[in-house]
Amino acid sequence: MNLLTRWSRRAAVVGVSVGLAVATTTPVTAVSPVAPSERCTDYAGVVKAPKGAIPRDDLVSVKKDPLVEWVADHRSQAAAAADADATVTIPVQFHVIRKENGQGGGDVPDAQIAEQIDVLNAAFAGTGFAFDLERVTRTTQPEWFNLIGAQGADPRYFRGSGKEVKMKQALHTGDSETLNIYTASLGQFLLGWAYLPWDFSGANGEPLPRYFDGVVLDYRSLPGGAFTNYGEGDTATHEVGHWLGLYHTFQNGCSEPGDRVDDTPYEASPAFQCPVGRDTCPAEGVDPITNFMDYTYDACMSEFTPGQGVRMSQTWEAFRSLG
Ligand SMILES: [Zn+2]
Repeated sequence: MNLLTRWSRRAAVVGVSVGLAVATTTPVTAVSPVAPSERCTDYAGVVKAPKGAIPRDDLVSVKKDPLVEWVADHRSQAAAAADADATVTIPVQFHVIRKENGQGGGDVPDAQIAEQIDVLNAAFAGTGFAFDLERVTRTTQPEWFNLIGAQGADPRYFRGSGKEVKMKQALHTGDSETLNIYTASLGQFLLGWAYLPWDFSGANGEPLPRYFDGVVLDYRSLPGGAFTNYGEGDTATHEVGHWLGLYHTFQNGCSEPGDRVDDTPYEASPAFQCPVGRDTCPAEGVDPITNFMDYTYDACMSEFTPGQGVRMSQTWEAFRSLG
């Protein structure tokens, strides 16, 4: 993994404070939220990966982009967000779901969580974002640990599932500025998932309850984790990119408006492994396989572009900042 971004500036490692570990087994009442699969953003499915590769998450088809609409209505605010030099430090609530004690049961050690925060800080250096670990919770709950059902490749069995609702209702902490990260076992179907910031704003249909907001990761994707080719912590980087409003680099394939970022070349479909020189679209530029928002191996991805940095800063201003 190349820890340098396009700006070649590595973030200083932030101070880490780990709160009291808690075991939560409080029963929670299930509710019936608006099923994400029925909303304006369609969770279109999970792409089939070649042997030995895992899709990072599921695909969404976006009929409109709430950020583009916000920028059109807030020109000066959007320009200020794009030019801002200040770094936003995001508090992280890290929730470990474990089957039992020990790493085979998903009980990720504090040192590995600290390394994951370091990976995030290195990856986002130069984008205007940094991450500060605020608290770690540990929950022994075998049912939540196996978070995806047997039909795991179908987004209906993880997005908005009863397990996700119960887990997040019990553990989600904070507001729109707080990053909640959950680790569990997601199997071989996918590495993680996140929700887009406007899913909670009403800018994209009925808003989801805030407790859905956050990033779910397979515990084996953390730095030093057991996943071959996906054990350097870049699943978190990719999912936090979504949490800050980025789409995949292959969004809309070779067609406009692509991923709605000007400096990421068009790409027809997800790139897996590390296919150097891949060029799937007639438009200028080879596929952005080294971008964190593609599907390549952790060792292959190393950058966000300046345009993605601007999009994340504007997304923060529009949909996450409490001012
Ligand atoms: Zn993704």
